[in-house]
Amino acid sequence: MKSILVTGGAGFIGSHLCKALVKKGYKVICVDNLKTGKIENLKEIINNRNFKFIKYNIIKPLKLNKKINYIFHLASYASPPYYQKYSIETLMTNSAGTYNILEVARKNKATFLITSTSEVYGDPKEHPQKESYWGNVNPVGVRSCYDEAKRFAESLTMEYMRKYNLDVRIVRIFNTYGPRLQKDDGRVISNFIYQAINNLPITIYGKGMQTRSFCYVSDMVGGLLKMMFNKNARGQIINLGNPDEFTIKEAAYIILKLTGSKSKIVYKKLPEDDPTRRRPDITKAKKILNWKPEIKLEEGLKATIKWFKDEK
Ligand code: UDP
Repeated sequence: MKSILVTGGAGFIGSHLCKALVKKGYKVICVDNLKTGKIENLKEIINNRNFKFIKYNIIKPLKLNKKINYIFHLASYASPPYYQKYSIETLMTNSAGTYNILEVARKNKATFLITSTSEVYGDPKEHPQKESYWGNVNPVGVRSCYDEAKRFAESLTMEYMRKYNLDVRIVRIFNTYGPRLQKDDGRVISNFIYQAINNLPITIYGKGMQTRSFCYVSDMVGGLLKMMFNKNARGQIINLGNPDEFTIKEAAYIILKLTGSKSKIVYKKLPEDDPTRRRPDITKAKKILNWKPEIKLEEGLKATIKWFKDEK
């Protein structure tokens, strides 16, 4: 039976991924320092005999006494308020941490998949964003602790392929949402849903005309599995996200409608270096992985709202 290491496996996407892998019959080792991940996220699989949880910070070298066949490397702070609050940790997790996990991959000759981010495109001047676009990133701005750390992690990953012929795959994840997004995560969908169901003001930053494209978590997990297990994805860098683009104001009104909330909208200062537009070009994912998202925003939001209400 093949063994899979998932770093950041107790987090939002990681926990959905671990569950899918256990269901497929793999032995899964989940490593997470539980800074933003939560053990509750793993409650459906924590007692499964094919699942093992290790609380560990990957900034330190990781030794495992078991052969590993595949590695999904997801560990990192990922929401802007958190990665800015823990900026040095974010830089170290994606640099030293990625190095430590690549070493595990090299020693095990494991297939290594890293989840990078649409943030590597910065405030993009090309729209929609193709993988071939080099990005427009402020290298010293408040988001650089995440953007540049992920760019470094991508670079290191590619060098392990060039120098050691390691089988690597890079996914650039665009905004993803769904059940298990933490209510205090600070991202737009979790903020708006939490505010709407508690009749608190909906906080739109800036004029709300900036755009994002939101992918439901089950679609994202499906894409990550295809990326890992499709041999044509070896050495590839592929965007995963939903190309349906919405302004933040549109997202606010959709959530108000779906929750039937009486919340008022309030406008707050736009955060520094907030990207103006973001939409993935997913031509490559369609061609190489035969993947495209299936869940429309309203459908995914309904399921997410239900989860937020049940958690309340
Ligand atoms: N945003 C907002 N209100 C909030 C949280 C976020 O208007 O309460 C905006 C934010 O300024 C950005 C977009 O929503 O333009 C997406 O923000 P998020 O933090 O979810 O992720 P990003 O795509 O910026 O990494």
